[in-house]
Amino acid sequence: MNDCIFCKIVKGEIPSKKVYEDELVYAFYDIAPAAPVHVLIVPKEHLSGMNEAEEKHEKLLGHILLTAQKLAKTLGVAEDGYRIINNCGEKAGQTVFHMHFHLLAGAQFTNLV
Ligand code: AMP
Ligand code: ZN
Repeated sequence: MNDCIFCKIVKGEIPSKKVYEDELVYAFYDIAPAAPVHVLIVPKEHLSGMNEAEEKHEKLLGHILLTAQKLAKTLGVAEDGYRIINNCGEKAGQTVFHMHFHLLAGAQFTNLV
């Protein structure tokens, strides 16, 4: 996707504070953190959001969740607790239409659900 900001970050065309990278995912600090630890985990493949995910993305989706768990451990917040959030669609608060998962920690979150 030519005009996708997260595709550009994955390709290094826009700077980011990288936390982790492998063949499937790229993780970096959110530019406007909503918590003391706020990392975004994005697939290298462009998917506009969760609605675009298919059976063939099963491994990718599992990998994203396990990456979030590993990063929580690496960043030292696993024991305290963390949230993994995906916003799908404008009503859910999605503003960047390249699928991504937020890893949030370091604060006491209130329960939404
Ligand atoms: P969402 O609202 O779920 O679509 O999340 C998009 C997130 O991307 C927001 O938390 C933004 O702060 C973050 N964001 C937007 N542009 C950048 C950027 N260039 N680098 C890092 N994070 C960004
Ligand atoms: Zn993209």
